[in-house]
This record gives sequence, C-alpha cells and structure tokens, in this order.
Amino acid sequence: MRRTAAELAKMRRAGKVVAEMHEATRAAARPGVTTAELDTVAREVLERRGATSNFLGYHGFPAVICTSPNAMIVHGIPGGYVLEEGDILSIDCGAIVEGYHGDAAFTMGIGTISKQAQMLIEVTERSLWAGIAQLRKGNALHEVGRAVQDVAEAAGFSVVREYVGHAIGTAMHEQPQVPNYWPGTKGPTLKTGNVFAIEPMVNVGSPETVLLDDQWSVVTADGSLSAHFEHTIAVTEEGPEVLTLP
Ligand code: MG
Ligand code: MG
Repeated sequence: MRRTAAELAKMRRAGKVVAEMHEATRAAARPGVTTAELDTVAREVLERRGATSNFLGYHGFPAVICTSPNAMIVHGIPGGYVLEEGDILSIDCGAIVEGYHGDAAFTMGIGTISKQAQMLIEVTERSLWAGIAQLRKGNALHEVGRAVQDVAEAAGFSVVREYVGHAIGTAMHEQPQVPNYWPGTKGPTLKTGNVFAIEPMVNVGSPETVLLDDQWSVVTADGSLSAHFEHTIAVTEEGPEVLTLP
C-alpha cells in the first residue's frame, strides 16, 4: 500500500501521540509501580489527544499498552505486576488518529540493571535503527531483517522468528510482514508511501518462544532476558521518516 501525503500527515499525528505515550510511561515506570498503573498513564495521553487505542479490544486485548518484563518478549497484559529494581521492561504503545495507526515500543531498565541487560537493550535498539536505515525506495524489504539480524547476532544475541514487524496504515497489522531475520527471499521492492512498523525482538539466549496460559504473554523458552524496540516508519523520497519520534 502506498500512502498519500494527506494520509501520511494523519499517520504523523498518530505517531506523535504514540511518542507521547512513550514519554509518559517511561517517566512513570519505577520500582513499586504496577504495570496496570502504566496503562492508566497511557490512557490519559490518548484521552488528552483525542486519539483512540488500537490495542484495546484487539482480539479481546484488555489494555492500551503491552508491558513485557524481563524474560517476557511481547504482548504482556498490564496488571498487578510490581516493577522491581533491576527489571527490564518492554512497553509497546499504539494510537489511532482519524483512522490512521501508529505503533512503537521501547525497552527500559528499572533502576540499576545488570551490564548484560544494558547491553541487550542497547543492541536491540541499534538493530532497530540498522533495519530502519534499509527503508529506502528501490531496496528489498527483507534487507531490513538482514540488517537487524546482523547487529543482534554480532553481539551474541538471537532474533525471535515467530513474531515480526508489519505494514501499517488504516489497520495496525497490514501485509506484508517484516521478518527480523533474513528469510532467504528478497521480498517486495520498497516504494515511496510504504509505511512499516519495524520491531526487533532480541533474546540473550535461544530464539525459541513460549505462549503463556493467558494466551497473550510470549516469553523466552529458556527464561533468558528479551528486549523489544519498534518504530513506525514511512519510505519517502528523502529516505526513511520515523513517524513515532517525539
Ligand atoms: Mg507495537
Ligand atoms: Mg507492531
């Protein structure tokens, strides 16, 4: 799908709301705070900006953000979990403005974290930016995954296979999907107006995942730490434009 300038303007506005949800939840996340409280903080941003949630009610999801601590990779449901010093926490946020979607995630340390956790967060964010740099017209989409995988594996970490990025626009999850690894094919050729959510999930240990009984929370099979970063990005004549930055 190629978005018009008018559509991209709406996606920019949705992206700004998501960036504001990031700032607000990041500021609120500290030892003693529950993940449900972070969801409340994010809801207040949506209300203040007159935006709606693309997460709430998605296949029955009960919150406006996903909160995934430590060995949880993605899709954690905010609730009674109390953040502890030394945790790492992935916060995934989304918003709809005038029918157009934004989607972005980050991982942060709660208080002081281990050197390995810090390195995992840094490498995962760096892998996202390496992937974003591939979003240029004429390039093959799957170069994104190759770039992400190169960065993550060079640091000795692994990339999750079962969960991937996606095109985004009038729905949160549009086709095509965007693997975070080289899938052996080049994929579609990028055109201006294409918009993608790129979202590497990187594990300290093996890439294997397990779905918990709540049917949402995805954790590492080996219990190792996992980090997740995501932005929504448009392919433009001038190169990649990240829509979910403040
Ligand atoms: Mg997301
Ligand atoms: Mg996404």
